Amino acid sequence: MNEGFTPLEGIDLNGNCVLLKIDYLFPTGSYKDRGATVLISKMKEWGVQKVVEDSSGNAGSAIAAYCAKTGIECDIYVPQYTSPGKLVQIQAYGATLKRVKGSRERTAEKAMEAASKIPYASHCWNPFFLHGTKTFAFEVWEQMDWRAPDTLVLPIGHGTLFLGVYMGFKELKEAGRIKRIPKLVGVQSASCAPLYQAFKKGWKETKQIEKRETIAEGIAIAEPVRGKQILEAIRDTDGEILAVTENEIGVALKEMGRKGHFIEPTSAATIAGLKKYLGKKRHKETVVSTLTGMGLKSAGKML
Ligand SMILES: *Cc1c(COP(=O)(O)O)cnc(C)c1O
Repeated sequence: MNEGFTPLEGIDLNGNCVLLKIDYLFPTGSYKDRGATVLISKMKEWGVQKVVEDSSGNAGSAIAAYCAKTGIECDIYVPQYTSPGKLVQIQAYGATLKRVKGSRERTAEKAMEAASKIPYASHCWNPFFLHGTKTFAFEVWEQMDWRAPDTLVLPIGHGTLFLGVYMGFKELKEAGRIKRIPKLVGVQSASCAPLYQAFKKGWKETKQIEKRETIAEGIAIAEPVRGKQILEAIRDTDGEILAVTENEIGVALKEMGRKGHFIEPTSAATIAGLKKYLGKKRHKETVVSTLTGMGLKSAGKML
């Protein structure tokens, strides 16, 4: 759908100029199209006729849109609590919506059961999705005149953008195009922060957490399937993980609106993390972050 190459816009935050990749401008309104276009193209190549996917909403919309484009049938499993806008969107693309009562984890279990018979177009398990999200790194590098930023601040739920960006910069380094992989800073909602906990405690893997409700529904992942890989990427780049409160997410959401960006709360969590990372000091480093999702998707939750 001619997706990709989203703008890289400079904005002022706490007296620092940071660059934001405007990824809510993708065809389905979130960066998930980066992964979905590659994964579904692969499925098409393999002659797959039907897929299942589970999602908190945006990955489901992206998979459904690319399935519609390629003529693949799909069943999308989502938690009952998913924003109505995302549910309408998934159905508009002609996908069959399967709403599951209970947690996001319960939804994943249901999709897994279905996936014993139907190919699983999972954004978190299928590696081809990450080969799509890594285009974020290539685009930033190109838009910065073939240079890498010093630091990237990115959301982490399952870490599909985070790991794709890591892979992209790693490939650029291995190809001798950049000297070092940028420092990767991950942001989680404090209400659901298994990776933040594991990073703080120095663990190699995540452990069970007590999950509370959060307006950042897109990153409310209690059991990230690539937790170990994410923690390794953080340590490899001398990065860190930050956790942001519901209040901080709300403040960032309003602030971005006033700057002309109507984003969804999940996306505002990243900005809250970015503000936390910048703090009060002036930074010499170049920092890149992103606006991952469009506000219209979950406008109801912002009332
Ligand atoms: C999916 C999503 C994220 C986080 O992505 P993960 O792959 O789960 O880390 C962030 N923002 C939005 C808007 C999303 O849809």
